[in-house]
Amino acid sequence: MAAPKLTIQNGTKYRTDDIRRIVRAAMKALGVRAAKRVIVKPSRKHFSGRANVGSRTREAKTIWIWLPPHFNAKEAACLAAHELSHTQGVCHGDMTREQYMCRQEVPWAKGLQLRTRITATSDVKAVETPAQRARRIVEKRSTHADDMHRKALTRLKRAQNIERKWRKQVQYYRKRQTALASEETARRARLRDADLSVFDVDEVDGGI
Ligand SMILES: [Zn+2]
Repeated sequence: MAAPKLTIQNGTKYRTDDIRRIVRAAMKALGVRAAKRVIVKPSRKHFSGRANVGSRTREAKTIWIWLPPHFNAKEAACLAAHELSHTQGVCHGDMTREQYMCRQEVPWAKGLQLRTRITATSDVKAVETPAQRARRIVEKRSTHADDMHRKALTRLKRAQNIERKWRKQVQYYRKRQTALASEETARRARLRDADLSVFDVDEVDGGI
């Protein structure tokens, strides 16, 4: 009989191929006959799991496992076996204390690994020579300097635009003030002339 289908949704830093091998081994050890879906999520501190509960004759499909930062293949195997057994209808009451606590013996997990994914960057860092490393760092810092300079230029241009705008406003209002002042001077001059002409007349009259 072909092995039952296994779907893994892995949201952790652990390698999916390692998780797949562990779950496969657990499925084999438990005599799983139906397809399974395993949803793997990261947890901050403690491992945990849940499962859809099935029966021997009608296995449930889905289990969830939460893996903490420092976890190994044996621990993952215990957890996977615990949850998978729920899909086969096993209740906590049916389990040994070790199985319940996920501390059972799992000889079938011997030699399995639970490695973390190697990210592209750390991969590069691991193999590069000192010269390559120097080049990479200089390139990275040069790009950063370019970015910062571009940002500084933008800030400078913005400041210059603001300065130009207010300089024009200053010039405009100075002109307005001058214009208003000269209008006022002209008005006063006209008034004074008018007064003088009246005065002149009076004076002329009074002079008689
Ligand atoms: Zn349980």
